Amino acid sequence: MNNSSFEWAVIGAGPAGIAAIGKLIEKGVNAENITWIDPEFKVGDFGTRWQKVSSNTRVGLFLKFFEACEAFQYDPATSDFAIQQLAPEKTCLLDVAAEPLRWITENLKNKVHAIRGKAQQLKLSNRQWEILLANKTVYAKNVILATGAEPKSLLFPSVEEIHLATALDPDKLAASCSETDVIAVFGSSHSAMLILRTLLEKCQVKKVINFYLSPLRYAVYFDDWILFDDTGLKGMAADWARININGKLPTKLERIIAHEENIRLTLPLCDKAIYAVGFQKRLIPVEGMHSLEYNDRSGIIAPGLFGLGIAFPEAKIDRYGTLEYRVGLWKFMEYLNHVMPIWLKYGA
Ligand SMILES: Cc1cc2nc3c(=O)[nH]c(=O)nc-3n(C[C@H](O)[C@H](O)[C@H](O)COP(=O)(O)OP(=O)(O)OC[C@H]3O[C@@H](n4cnc5c(N)ncnc54)[C@H](O)[C@@H]3O)c2cc1C
Repeated sequence: MNNSSFEWAVIGAGPAGIAAIGKLIEKGVNAENITWIDPEFKVGDFGTRWQKVSSNTRVGLFLKFFEACEAFQYDPATSDFAIQQLAPEKTCLLDVAAEPLRWITENLKNKVHAIRGKAQQLKLSNRQWEILLANKTVYAKNVILATGAEPKSLLFPSVEEIHLATALDPDKLAASCSETDVIAVFGSSHSAMLILRTLLEKCQVKKVINFYLSPLRYAVYFDDWILFDDTGLKGMAADWARININGKLPTKLERIIAHEENIRLTLPLCDKAIYAVGFQKRLIPVEGMHSLEYNDRSGIIAPGLFGLGIAFPEAKIDRYGTLEYRVGLWKFMEYLNHVMPIWLKYGA
């Protein structure tokens, strides 16, 4: 391989990109034949945007992820990261989980050919993928997209938006609100519950209006599986919601079904809005493909082109027939265990 031509390229260095690099090396791909592309190498949104978020995953699952690949070089016996001191059944701030991931990233960067930059376009020709960056082009026989996702916005023009990343940082959210503000929060997800809690308990605001569509859903833990593992509230968000949403509504909180008519009548009363209504994948234009449709059981987008992470989650039907999209560090690792044998044989 020369400096611009590789067997594998992994685009994105969030948790999914980290897992992909670890698994490729574990499967015997020579690290020198892997290029890893990211603008920052700071553990993606997980490490830069959601640090102050209380996890929905228990500490034990994060530890399992760190130890899942030999290439990570994570040894619990010698590690002195704060997460190692926490009880495995507890949750933690995401920054506590991001700390070892930063260290793992540095280890992996030293093994593979890391390129700091943004992939701008992909094109398949001569049975290899051409990856266009701002100042260079690299080639790879196989590409894994682990590019993450942006929070969706409803973009109501009458209210000022507080971005989800600001809303999920309690200090930044408090600084974005004033005591005369009526704040609209759209959604009933884990993020929405954490934001409601911060607004009501830490911020000076006049009122909070939560626009929602469906009843709250809670994850339920059984010995060998979790009901509503990917859509149910967990940890601190679940505890708070049971008391304050399904229990007694705080006096400053009003909840309104997000029907068009309700929004038309009530949103004009709000000064600012926060949208916790899901995510949309970050796209890289692929010449000859107008959208990045992918198979959500195998991760295949095209020959030699695969997707992983929050942008390309695995679809799974639980034992009661509910379809869920699996998003989370350990789930990315489990997905790779299923699909990597296929990916290794599905080159361009
Ligand atoms: C609020 C919140 C709480 C969460 N809590 C948990 C939790 O408790 N436990 C858990 O396991 N999971 C949790 N998740 C889910 C998931 O683990 C995170 O969303 C995680 O950040 C997804 O990892 P990723 O690698 O897919 O994407 P990201 O972390 O977003 O990383 C994507 C990377 O790709 C880079 N990139 C994008 N486009 C390009 C390009 N064109 N070229 C080069 N690089 C590019 C980005 O800059 C970024 O560095 C949470 C998610 C959210 C939003």
